Amino acid sequence: MKCEPVLNHFSLLGEGPVWDRNMERIIWVDILRGNINQFHPASGTFQCFNVGQMIGAVTLRKGGGLVAALQHGFAFIDIEKEWIGFISDPEQHLPNNRFNDGKCDPEGRFWAGTMSVKGEEKAGSLYALEPDHSISLKVSGIGCSNGLAWSPDHAVLYYIDTPTKQVAAYDYDQSSGLIMNKRIVIEIKEENVFPDGMAIDEEGMLWVALWNGWRVERWNPYTGKLLQQISLPVSRVTSCTFGGESLEDLYMTTAMQGLSPEESVLQPLAGALFVIRKCGHRGIPAVEFAG
Ligand code: CA
Repeated sequence: MKCEPVLNHFSLLGEGPVWDRNMERIIWVDILRGNINQFHPASGTFQCFNVGQMIGAVTLRKGGGLVAALQHGFAFIDIEKEWIGFISDPEQHLPNNRFNDGKCDPEGRFWAGTMSVKGEEKAGSLYALEPDHSISLKVSGIGCSNGLAWSPDHAVLYYIDTPTKQVAAYDYDQSSGLIMNKRIVIEIKEENVFPDGMAIDEEGMLWVALWNGWRVERWNPYTGKLLQQISLPVSRVTSCTFGGESLEDLYMTTAMQGLSPEESVLQPLAGALFVIRKCGHRGIPAVEFAG
């Protein structure tokens, strides 16, 4: 399998790839620069929009446009009109926190979590922006809220709190959005390697991006078995998703944040968006925010 950079553009902290089936584009963020990037593979068109603050995650909104978890709360965004419509911030009282990874659940709620920018332990939380624009607190005491994925049968939420080095599973109730019965399904044992963003394929297997791990791993969350490793030429692999017309292209974001000058020389592609076309597995379409 050939893993190649999609284009000659490098993020400081590339994250949160999402495939837009309607527009046939891949969208991802550069958290630290506050950029939303989009690339249309068929035409080779690249566009970058700066939101003026850090941005943890962005996803599609039903009826068009985007919804984002910014440093200072949730917002709607229209890239073409360069418009940002603020919704609300559940952590106005926590100025040292910023939003990080996020994704929509099968019902179209936008889940996104936070982390401390000053390294405070367990200062983050996981929230869901409901279609009526109210915000529900889902989990508190989080170190660094990261990967989210729902099982193909919509019965389970998988969730990564990066410092724990674990993937947790919760029973998930689609109609209420409630989660319960937390258990650990995957543990990353390698020293100084951390699970970051995550995708799920149509077979219900998890694809976990490994910060400092130079790879993405495919895991079976039912048995806890490692199934496959995909190597990248950069150490800080941050997230992945399936894209392309048939959702068989694996897109992977990476970062150059924190690399030493020596490491940067050895990793000239750090921060690139990578793709493996026709990776042999098929993803699940991204759900749009329903509000
Ligand atoms: Ca992340």
